[in-house]
Amino acid sequence: MTQRDIIVIGAGIGGLTVAALLQWRGLSTITFEQHAVPGGSASLFRKKGYTFDAGASMFYGFGSDEQSGSLNLHSRIFRRLGVQVPTIHDPVQIHYHLPNGFEVATHYEREKFLSELIARFPREANGIRRFYDELEKVFDIIRSFPVGSLEDARYLVSLAAKHPKKVAQLAYYSFKSMGEMARRFIKDEELLRFIDIECESWSLQDANATPFVNAGICLADRHHGGIRYPIGSSGAIGKALVEGIRKFGGEVRFGQCVEEILLRNGRAVGVRLANGEEHYAKAIVSNATIWDTFGSLVKDERYRVDASKFDVSPSWFQLHLGVDASIFPEGFNVHHIIVEDWKTYRELGGTIRLSAPSLLDRSCAPEGKHVLHVFTTSTVDEWRKRYPKDAEYEAAKARAAEALIRRTEKILPGLSSAIDRCYAATPLTHKRYLRRYRGSYGPLLKSGQIVLQKPQNSTPVKNLYAVGDSCFPGQGVIAVTYSGVSCAHLICRKFGLSIEPL
Ligand SMILES: Cc1cc2nc3c(=O)[nH]c(=O)nc-3n(C[C@H](O)[C@H](O)[C@H](O)COP(=O)(O)OP(=O)(O)OC[C@H]3O[C@@H](n4cnc5c(N)ncnc54)[C@H](O)[C@@H]3O)c2cc1C
Repeated sequence: MTQRDIIVIGAGIGGLTVAALLQWRGLSTITFEQHAVPGGSASLFRKKGYTFDAGASMFYGFGSDEQSGSLNLHSRIFRRLGVQVPTIHDPVQIHYHLPNGFEVATHYEREKFLSELIARFPREANGIRRFYDELEKVFDIIRSFPVGSLEDARYLVSLAAKHPKKVAQLAYYSFKSMGEMARRFIKDEELLRFIDIECESWSLQDANATPFVNAGICLADRHHGGIRYPIGSSGAIGKALVEGIRKFGGEVRFGQCVEEILLRNGRAVGVRLANGEEHYAKAIVSNATIWDTFGSLVKDERYRVDASKFDVSPSWFQLHLGVDASIFPEGFNVHHIIVEDWKTYRELGGTIRLSAPSLLDRSCAPEGKHVLHVFTTSTVDEWRKRYPKDAEYEAAKARAAEALIRRTEKILPGLSSAIDRCYAATPLTHKRYLRRYRGSYGPLLKSGQIVLQKPQNSTPVKNLYAVGDSCFPGQGVIAVTYSGVSCAHLICRKFGLSIEPL
């Protein structure tokens, strides 16, 4: 049994960020992670000389202060912790391959991207510029604010006092969706579909359901701080956060699953692990999804999540491939999205995403090979209905893998005969490794809801906080880092500690 200031459940990027910042601030923390590695959906696994990203491969937040302002969160956190994560600049965020031969790359150089888009839609030149300028305005506002908790009244008052005009503008944008703003400037239906896929690429929702404010970060910072890949793969981020936590005296324990959050008189007081150990703390932070926290870890039925509040996003069918380098054309970009048909792109399996990070970091693949991560949406139900896991189940998995590889050959001809290794992961794999409810990418806002309706870090249970992609602002590594920073801010405030903004 231990007694700490803070217990963190889960060493995903959200959980590690809050633990690192609180430990740095002088609170004692212990983090329990059920898996053997840190990083959660942004972790790695190694096989036969390949280093595969388990999930995320495209990273924001490593820019300089001049480029991204307060949104270069990884750079700021690692500077504060005194740990290093060297990265490599990626010149293109995503290369889109869309119906009717429409191809566009979202280059780091904004003008290059806009010119490519305008070349396809010359009549919309003015609208394109005005629409993307609006995103820049939101980005400029957000990057000029220190990152803190929206639940801290003092933080909000100080922001409003220092930046009254910007706060008012941001409040206005908070009620807007990407779809609403796009339609204000753009008429062409194909171009509007492109705005949809720009949103879908990270929010898993179309433009109408994607908050304009979130898009203002993702679709603008790619031209400022840019996209960078950590040397040593995605796992380098979690590893560095663990190093920072331990450097300041915190503890991170792997292979330790939390089974229950212990409540006493409606307050969270500790956790019980699967091995029966009990640990107590003044505050508990859960990095599990909202459904796992309140559907499983908190046993009291009164705290169940209202199912009507959010949509449950799907999960993923993923292929981790080791591939002969010879099939990659000269100048092949790292991240790609393939849409074959606008009618079906939002259906399960309708859009293909792929990343080949060894094009940037050669250490991720053996000589003459590359890693290729190809994935598409799927659900646990799709795979559960094929139970039992017998030969037929395996055959279905092989067929799904083959079909995905065949579709990917549209941009990588010869792929099927260039595969050295193939590891297929269904949503059930994702659920099993990360204990995520239904293997889901996380809760999604319903159309018409605004970004501020995402849960913040405090919860209905006293002394229990939430962090990660179930919280504001949402999915993505930089977003969960943001939620970790705001959670640390809120807890410091509750503990009466002064807070230095990040
Ligand atoms: C296939 C895929 C591709 C993606 N690509 C990108 C990308 O390119 N760029 C990007 O920015 N984002 C990407 N994302 C999204 C991003 O990875 C996630 O939004 C983010 O990493 C989620 O972080 P988190 O801390 O909220 O949760 P998680 O990563 O889920 O971490 C939660 C941690 O808690 C642990 N845990 C859960 N329950 C318990 C328990 N009871 N006891 C102990 N430990 C527990 C889990 O094992 C896990 O390690 C991708 C996601 C996926 C799945």
